[in-house]
Amino acid sequence: MPFTPFHFGPGAAAKAMAPRHFSFTLFAFTNVVIDVEPLYFMLSNEWPIHRFFHTYAGATIAAVACYFIGRPVCSWAIRFWNSRLNASQSRWLAVEPRIAPLPAAVGAATGAWSHVLLDSLMHSDMEPFAPFFAGGGMIHLVTIAQLELYCALAGALGVVVLLAMAARRRK
Ligand SMILES: [Zn+2]
Repeated sequence: MPFTPFHFGPGAAAKAMAPRHFSFTLFAFTNVVIDVEPLYFMLSNEWPIHRFFHTYAGATIAAVACYFIGRPVCSWAIRFWNSRLNASQSRWLAVEPRIAPLPAAVGAATGAWSHVLLDSLMHSDMEPFAPFFAGGGMIHLVTIAQLELYCALAGALGVVVLLAMAARRRK
């Protein structure tokens, strides 16, 4: 997606549905890493911009790498985030910095595969099943505006549910 944070919307919804089994930070980290690929080819003016890491095979390899690299990086980022919060903010916004293996793996895998799925709906140069099958893009299923709206709505809903859960914890 041209604007990677749209991918975070479904991730926030997934976090709200399975908070203990899903690492949102690993999900987001994997999405950002995968979008380095089109950024690189866009800047060097080479078409297509969505290549190996925007296939299910390539994204799976990216997910494995992100699992190992992203766990310590995300833990560090969460500790940094927590350290910037004052006492009243941290009651709402502090995040557990330890990321257990299962939620890390689930976050990285769903981040990678949902990335390819969403980009297949959006970009005409996607070949998500390469190198096994050609084609497979689904750009005519929804418009870009609809897709961005769904992602934003999923994100808003996820954030509302997560805040409601934080409010319950505070009682
Ligand atoms: Zn992408």
